[in-house]
Amino acid sequence: MRFGILGGGGMTRSGLAIVLYLATGGSAFAEADSQMIAERLAGAIRYETVSHEDSADFEGAPFDALELYLREQYPRTHAVLRLEKVNAYTLLYEWSGSEPDLAGALFMSHLDVVPVEAEAAANWSHPPFGGVIEEGYVWGRGALDVKIGVILWLEAVEALLEEGVIPRRTIFLSFGHDEEIGGDEGAREVAAIFASRGIELAFLFDEGGMILDGHPLLPDKVVANVVTAEKAYYSVELTARGISGHSSMPPPSTAIGQLARAIARVEENPMPARISLPLREMLEAASPHLPFSRRFAIDHLWLLGGFVKRSFLDTDLNASFVRTSFAVTLVSGGVKENVIPEIAQATVNVRILPGDTPEDVLAHLARVIDDEGIEIKGTDWGEGAPAASATGPAFRLASASIADVLPEAVILPGLVPGATDSRHFSGVAREVLRFVPMRVGMDQVGGAHGRDERIAVDGLADSRAIAIGMIRRAASGSSSD
Ligand SMILES: [Zn+2]
Repeated sequence: MRFGILGGGGMTRSGLAIVLYLATGGSAFAEADSQMIAERLAGAIRYETVSHEDSADFEGAPFDALELYLREQYPRTHAVLRLEKVNAYTLLYEWSGSEPDLAGALFMSHLDVVPVEAEAAANWSHPPFGGVIEEGYVWGRGALDVKIGVILWLEAVEALLEEGVIPRRTIFLSFGHDEEIGGDEGAREVAAIFASRGIELAFLFDEGGMILDGHPLLPDKVVANVVTAEKAYYSVELTARGISGHSSMPPPSTAIGQLARAIARVEENPMPARISLPLREMLEAASPHLPFSRRFAIDHLWLLGGFVKRSFLDTDLNASFVRTSFAVTLVSGGVKENVIPEIAQATVNVRILPGDTPEDVLAHLARVIDDEGIEIKGTDWGEGAPAASATGPAFRLASASIADVLPEAVILPGLVPGATDSRHFSGVAREVLRFVPMRVGMDQVGGAHGRDERIAVDGLADSRAIAIGMIRRAASGSSSD
């Protein structure tokens, strides 16, 4: 069928929906589905399940209320799956498979959201916890990060139960209550439970990747970013020691001055940029869709890798994909304005690129700081999950499910610079991927943790269909059929 006479290239999505409806009689159902999912999501947003930096501010009641709400909205799921509450608020569901020898599959998300300060809330177009549906969007904290994930995974299980599906592989859902403050009580504890019960996971999917309109690499395409790797989280403490004394008779330099010089050297000497394997895989997957000049460079990375690498250094975001990064985030020293301090300290937060190690980081810092008077000490090493394969079973499972619903989508593996709850599962799951099939415009991505967080209503039925495909394939025990 040709749409050209109905408005050429400028046809709107709703125009297209009407034409498809006339042609198939089907998409009115999709619209109604999207609206229904939007309402369930909006309902979940209304519970103020906030994670505060200070755990004394934690309130459990909204988490309890949200759990009751989910029970009401997804009755089949709650009748059939076993629900275990971990540290009172994290929800861990188990849908037992008929073949216990098959390793399990885990679909993750989190219930908590970051707070909205009172002054910031006044600037939102709709109240952050109002769960308002207007102008084609569901508005509010958690619309993107990431109550949408909770809703989509539950929608999928509910739909599969309605169909009468019995899983061969055991399916787990885990929704943490403290992801935004590190996940120690939630996801980390869930990982410990799996380890202690000897439960092995073939793969897991968590937040981090999504379906993007306006992806910087392919702005004209629908891009599904099935993230195969994340940077690992690490911190280093720099300490300078001096001799305290009266500030009226100062030495040429104090501990604070010495520390300041060290910090300046760290900032002036970043670690070398490098195209890691997950980034290479992403570029190679994007390459066939790129204009010739860029495609040529990516297809000849052995020759033009330096050029491609440098082109990534144009923005802070892009640079975070090609190097282990340093950010000085805390500094302390001094107790009184007329006392020379004994000690000055700084914390450098480090995000380690796959392939680099904490030892590499410490060696680099020692070399560039080049001052034996500065003590350099790494904190606990929060080892990230090893990179998953862009050709492995979990990646293929996601790709096939996306292609069923959005055949036009370009599916890219790759790397996220942030850390997610899934890092706690490195010893439990063979493959860790980050993909929740929500569809987001690049201009809305900043809403996560920012102002006017929202998600478009009209993609929600497709998102659910992809989630259903993913869990159906996982449950069937095979990856791509
Ligand atoms: Zn999140």
